[in-house]
Amino acid sequence: MSSANAREDMAMLESLVEEGDAGVRWETARAGRPAPEPESVPVLVIGAGQAGLSVGYHLARLGVRFRILDGAERVGDSWRRRWDSLLLFSAARFDGLDGMPFPAPRESFPTKDEMADYLQAYARRFQLPVELGVKVQRVARHGSGFRIVAGQRSYQAEQVVVAMANYQRPRIPGFARELDPGIRQLDPVRYRNPAQLRDGAVLVVGAGNSGAEISLDLARAGYKVYLSGRDVPALPFRHGGRVARVVMPFLFNVVFHRLLTMSTPIGRKASQGGRTTPLIRTTMKHVRAAGVGRVPRTTGVRDGMPELEDGRVLPVQNVVWCTGFDPGFSWVEDVPLDAHGEPRQVRGEAQGMPGLYFVGLHFLYAMSSSMIHGLGRDAQFVAERIAARVTAPRVSSAIESG
Ligand SMILES: Cc1cc2nc3c(=O)[nH]c(=O)nc-3n(C[C@H](O)[C@H](O)[C@H](O)COP(=O)(O)OP(=O)(O)OC[C@H]3O[C@@H](n4cnc5c(N)ncnc54)[C@H](O)[C@@H]3O)c2cc1C
Repeated sequence: MSSANAREDMAMLESLVEEGDAGVRWETARAGRPAPEPESVPVLVIGAGQAGLSVGYHLARLGVRFRILDGAERVGDSWRRRWDSLLLFSAARFDGLDGMPFPAPRESFPTKDEMADYLQAYARRFQLPVELGVKVQRVARHGSGFRIVAGQRSYQAEQVVVAMANYQRPRIPGFARELDPGIRQLDPVRYRNPAQLRDGAVLVVGAGNSGAEISLDLARAGYKVYLSGRDVPALPFRHGGRVARVVMPFLFNVVFHRLLTMSTPIGRKASQGGRTTPLIRTTMKHVRAAGVGRVPRTTGVRDGMPELEDGRVLPVQNVVWCTGFDPGFSWVEDVPLDAHGEPRQVRGEAQGMPGLYFVGLHFLYAMSSSMIHGLGRDAQFVAERIAARVTAPRVSSAIESG
C-alpha cells in the first residue's frame, strides 16, 4: 500500500473512531477569527439529497422563499459516492419523488448513478435553489431564529430543516486504530470497488446488507474474503422474484408507510426496536456460494491483526468496516437526543427548538421515512408547518398543487 493510502486511512480513522462526530465542530469561533456577516434567508434547508429536494419541492409549491445548501459538488453525490456495483433495492416504481416519477421500467432496479442523475434532474426540473459546495459546520439558536455557519459564510434563518438520512458517518470500533498500519482500512462510504484494496485477504466486518454486498463484490473480483458477524435474517422470499413483486408493494405501501407509523401502537413499538434491516438482495446463501468464509464477530486486535470472538487471529491485508452509522448531527447545537443518539422530534419538528426540523431520519414518522417512496409525506408535513410560521412574504409558485 502507498504511504499516501496509509496516511489517508489513519486520518480517516482518527476522525471516525469512537469520538463520534465531535471532531467536526466549528473551530473558527474558538480560533478567534472575525465572524462573517450573515446573509438573511427565511428558510434554510441543509442537504440536497432526496430529503432536502422533497422539502424544497413542497416549500416551492407553497410559495415559501428558501435556499438549499449542500456540501457536495453535485446534487446526487451521496448516491454517486456509494460503491460502484450498488443497485437500489427498491424498484423504480418506488424511487420517484413527489411530482416526477423515476424514468425507468416500474419493476427494474436503478443503479446508484441513475438515482443520482434523477435527483439532479429533479432539482433542475423544479428549479430548486440549491447552493453546492457549502458544508454547514454549525447551526445554533440566535435571536428568534438560527445562525448557520459554513466556512467563511454565515446565514441567519427564521427556520432550518436538517434534511438527511442517519447514514452520515460510518461507525468504526476504537480498536481499529491498533491494526497494523499496512492494513488497508475502508468503510461503506469510502469503498467504491475492489481496485482500492491491497493484494491479499480481506476481512469485512459486519454481516448486514452493506457487508454482505461488499463481500460478494470482493469475492467476485477474486479476493479471499472473510465476513465477520452474526447472521442477520434475510427476507423470506427472493428479492426481485415473482413473490417479491406481489409482496414488496404491500410492504412498502401498507406495512412500512401506513401500519408502522408513530400513530399506531405497533409502529411506536417498532420504532424503539433495533436498527437491523433484514438482508434484502444478497443473503448468506449467495455469500457462501461465492466462497466467502463466514467467521464470528471481530472483537479486537492482536499483534496488529484482527482477532475474532473465538480467539482466532486473521492475517489479512484489508479490513472493510460495515459496522453501522452514527447520525452525525453534533454540528446542530442544543438538540435533545434520544436513546439512539438521534434528535428528539415529533413528525420532524425538533422538541424544544421551534423552527428547527429534521427530514429523512429513520422512523421520523414511519418505517418508510428514510426511504425514497416514504419521505414525501414527511417533507410535505414539514413544509406546511414552515409555511404556517413563516413571516416573510410568499412568492407565487410555479409548481402546481396536487
Ligand atoms: C447503501 C444504501 C443503499 C440504499 N438503498 C436504498 C434503496 O434502494 N431504496 C430506498 O428507498 N432507500 C435506500 N437507502 C436509504 C436512503 O434512501 C438513502 O440513504 C438516501 O441517500 C437518503 O437520502 P437523504 O436525502 O435523506 O440523505 P443523504 O443521501 O445522506 O443526503 C444528504 C445530503 O446532505 C449533504 N450534507 C450532509 N451534511 C451536510 C452539511 N453539514 N452541510 C451541507 N450539506 C450536508 C450531503 O452532501 C448529501 O448530499 C439506501 C441507503 C444506503 C446507505
